Amino acid sequence: MPEERTPHFIEQIIEQDIASGKWGGAGDPSVVTTRFPPEPNGYLHVGHTKSICLNFGLAKKYGGRCFLRFDDTNPAREEREYIEAIQEDIRWLGFEWGGKALHASEYFGWMYELALDLIDKGGAYVCELSGEQVRETRGMPTEPGKPSPYRDREPAESRDLFERMKAGKFPDGSRTLRARIDMAHPNLNMRDPVMYRILRKSHPHVGDEWCVYPMYDWAHGLEDSKEGITHSLCTLEFENHRPLYDWFIDAINEGRGEGREEKIHHGQQIEFAKLQLTHVLLSKRNLLAMVQEGHVRGWDDPRMHTIRGMRRRGWTPRSIRAFCDEVGVTKYNSLIDFGRLENAVREHLNKAAPRRMGVLRPLKVVIENYPEGKVEMMRAVNNPEDENAGTREVPFSREFFIEREDFMEDAPKKYFRLKPGGEVRLRYAYWVTCVGFEKDESGEVTLLRCTYDPQTQGGEAPPADADGKQRKVKGTLHWVSAEHAVDAEVRLFDRLFKAEQPGKKTGDFRDDLNPDSMEVVAAKIEPGLGFEAASDEPEWDDGIRRFQLERHGYFCVDPDSTENTLVLNRTVGLRDSWARVKEH
Ligand code: ATP
Ligand code: MG
Repeated sequence: MPEERTPHFIEQIIEQDIASGKWGGAGDPSVVTTRFPPEPNGYLHVGHTKSICLNFGLAKKYGGRCFLRFDDTNPAREEREYIEAIQEDIRWLGFEWGGKALHASEYFGWMYELALDLIDKGGAYVCELSGEQVRETRGMPTEPGKPSPYRDREPAESRDLFERMKAGKFPDGSRTLRARIDMAHPNLNMRDPVMYRILRKSHPHVGDEWCVYPMYDWAHGLEDSKEGITHSLCTLEFENHRPLYDWFIDAINEGRGEGREEKIHHGQQIEFAKLQLTHVLLSKRNLLAMVQEGHVRGWDDPRMHTIRGMRRRGWTPRSIRAFCDEVGVTKYNSLIDFGRLENAVREHLNKAAPRRMGVLRPLKVVIENYPEGKVEMMRAVNNPEDENAGTREVPFSREFFIEREDFMEDAPKKYFRLKPGGEVRLRYAYWVTCVGFEKDESGEVTLLRCTYDPQTQGGEAPPADADGKQRKVKGTLHWVSAEHAVDAEVRLFDRLFKAEQPGKKTGDFRDDLNPDSMEVVAAKIEPGLGFEAASDEPEWDDGIRRFQLERHGYFCVDPDSTENTLVLNRTVGLRDSWARVKEH
């Protein structure tokens, strides 16, 4: 269990509100109601995980509720495909919402009635300026805007026009409904913002019912109100929209209550700093471009920092949650090193992933004095970090593979792996000495010849010689028996972007793409890592098989695997190689 940390500023607000009974039932934490409100216009990315963990996490912590609500007010960019995917991704992260997912579009009728109510009170009017004219007359922060010539139109006339807008009597873009607030307000969001526009576009959730669609700023606060959200958490860029959300609800509630129509719920918006990470793109729009332009193989490409990409890469939900908890919740923007997220997954996998041996770039070795046809089962430790993980047997025979880079013909003195005449330990097997090698025409080494010392079984040191001298070896190599090896296509990944902030220098993230972000190798993996999970493998909540290949990092089985090809993805290396590179 993680240590109990001090509550962050949002938790402090919530705890005060529970104590004071601000949202009902003083001392009753179950009144806490939050929501995660994605717009279904793309797949969720690692930035969203912060908001998901925060909103669902708070509801869990206090025993309140968190809704999943699709903020589907803009049919121009939204699709059904995303609605399904978003739900899957949140569940994979480990969160549930009671009942059905909610849709802002289901409140369109209610919002429309409220808009009529606001028109009747003189709080909104139908404007006939074009979108461009509305923008041009808004003014500058230091300079007041110009009131629309339609601003003082009678409420009855606006009501009639708005009803006809809804009935489809006017062409797209010809009229808007605008709030009547203050064209000289220092906050530009308050200068008679547009509430509705005419748009003939079928909606992915409610079909062709509507041809007027609410703008985000009008809709968002009402969605929270409808659902009784007590703490409406959003990122900092919405701070200067808050006065507008408050204005809308106050304006609606004016004259309500006390025997008349009921007031609508008015929750509290609280802003927090976005999760910003180095080396990644955190924008659905840019991620879409990555897919459409073919820089990656799809939304779930293991190099993408979409939730599905991270899932396919082998990331664990628990490590993402732990990371979100560790970075905390503040009001200050900061850029977080991607290495911290990688450390979180390393930390989890180090404890939980079984160790296996695999050779990524194989070089064959023959032991000349080992009997042909003999197979010995060597006992190997499954996870030194977890004594309950036990041991397994790995077959050893006369021919096996080692890593190409573990042999050097002209080795420097401090090279402790194999070299002509040199001796090394094969992990869990024997000590072997290189007595010769073969090369092809290009000069590449194709085969090593070795002898083994039968007295070193299990990798143990041999007895001392007659003079009491103990032979020593410095290098330990991993290996895979040639006749037992499983072939695997292994995908090794590097960062998708070379720059810490992709596109910062030139304005185009494409300029920072890393052309070598994926390398595919034909590897040899120890048996038992085939298609059926071995009985000693741990069960992962999401059914994805993960393990460590000793000396190479953490890997998972990719869904591209077929009956004939095992495909593995490297989730992360054993150490933060980027941190090392930076030090030099
Ligand atoms: P994008 O810019 O990628 O399209 P968005 O904010 O427009 O992201 P939404 O679907 O509106 O995407 O986001 C759903 C929720 O996730 C919002 O409440 C938003 O504030 C939050 N969110 C988005 N990005 C981040 C981030 N980097 N850190 C924390 N929360 C985020
Ligand atoms: Mg958005």
